[in-house]
Amino acid sequence: MSFPRTLGELRRSPFSEELLRTRHVKDELRDNLVIKLRQDGPIFAGIVGYDDTVVPQIVNAILSRHNFILLGLRGQAKSRILRALTTLLDPQMPYIAGCEIHDNPYVPICRRCRELVASDGDSTPIDYLTSEQRYVEKLATPDVTIADLIGDIDPIKAAKSGHHLSSEMTVHYGLLPRANRGIFAINELPDLAGKIQVGLFNIMQEGDVQIKGYPIRLPLDVALVFSANPEDYTARGKIITPLKDRIGSEVRTHYPASVEEGITITAQEAWTERNGHKMLIPKYVQEVIERIAFVAREDKKIDKRSGVSQRLPISVLENVVSNAERRAIRHDEKLVVPRISDIYAAMPAITGKLELEYEGEMKGADSVGRELIRSAIAKTFDEYFTGVNMQQVVQWFDLGGEIQLSDSAGAVEVLDLLRTIQGLMDKLGKINAGSKDGVESQVSAAEFVLEGLHAHKRIGRNEERVFTAGEKQPKRQDKPFDRDETPLRPRRTFN
Ligand SMILES: [Zn+2]
Repeated sequence: MSFPRTLGELRRSPFSEELLRTRHVKDELRDNLVIKLRQDGPIFAGIVGYDDTVVPQIVNAILSRHNFILLGLRGQAKSRILRALTTLLDPQMPYIAGCEIHDNPYVPICRRCRELVASDGDSTPIDYLTSEQRYVEKLATPDVTIADLIGDIDPIKAAKSGHHLSSEMTVHYGLLPRANRGIFAINELPDLAGKIQVGLFNIMQEGDVQIKGYPIRLPLDVALVFSANPEDYTARGKIITPLKDRIGSEVRTHYPASVEEGITITAQEAWTERNGHKMLIPKYVQEVIERIAFVAREDKKIDKRSGVSQRLPISVLENVVSNAERRAIRHDEKLVVPRISDIYAAMPAITGKLELEYEGEMKGADSVGRELIRSAIAKTFDEYFTGVNMQQVVQWFDLGGEIQLSDSAGAVEVLDLLRTIQGLMDKLGKINAGSKDGVESQVSAAEFVLEGLHAHKRIGRNEERVFTAGEKQPKRQDKPFDRDETPLRPRRTFN
């Protein structure tokens, strides 16, 4: 398909003056959104868990032609949603070729283009931008200047062109004018200095801006979208009131509401489909990984303000798969099946993603990380094994049984050891692993049971991953025994 290359051809094409002259970016977003709403599919592909909460609010903001802000903790897909807005732009947009601010061919705002159209008329050359090219993103930091954002007087340009410094012909445009007729996203808006916020507000309000004291008029056509941490945004004095006032909608994002939703997001984002090895990630491994994030979000030792990003379970899953892959390569195994021990080996993907409170710092990131994994295992174990009698397995250890389950040990080697634990292998049906399954799957499942018992402190495990009898707790007699357990010795009674 060939597109019109001059203003004259453009006039006679579907990109007519009637259609384009007054159609602003926000009208375009709205029009394309309306078309999508009439169809049945998702509005933003790949955004999971926001169908009933965030997405309808964004849809309303766009239908209202608002500038809007997404408020949420890190790792809540804010940037991803903002980038997905490009799917609501036309695939191709004509502009006057060579214009730094992508002027509308029918109503150019820069002086260069106005003069060009006046002299060349219908032969003015036309070029096109794709929807992705119309998205400009900036992470706000305190050192962002007016020059970065809006522009600067360029004395060399002035000297070369012979124009006066106050002429707009001498301006070197910043990011915002370069986003003209597109979407401009500013992440972490509260980090922008007050003076810059004023500049931003002026351009939103009047299309006026002062650069180094010279007033310049730039009636830009930009859809402005922002993101921020909610506490920063609502903190007094962080955002100038008139700017806040001009942001039409505030939309709150959130973490996945259920473990299942989290698993879907993690499975979609993590790199697990690797060439070469057949892979089988057990459901309970996925659940434990996801619950690490859920448990961490509730943990007092971790900073609530900063949150626990969805990137944590994503990176953990990638590391878990790598550890399992490494083991499979070493032992020449056909099937890669991650185990719970691979999750402990994924500590490097956990510690860096937690902002610790004082109490957590005292304990150390590693120890906090291990505690999180352990309580994620305990919760997942309960999902499958509540009410299942494990006494036979526990007793095997109480009678002096020991077994080492290194995360680097091959499956065949370990399975023989596991089979010596009476009652263990017939429990695996609960997690859909049986003797008909591959050796790798059976080992992973059996290890999950032992890790679960350890997480509940019913059996012990040391640093070398040797499982042993649980610590003999002197208080144990005072606690009621589990229904399925029989006390080893009857309680002594005093008369
Ligand atoms: Zn122009």
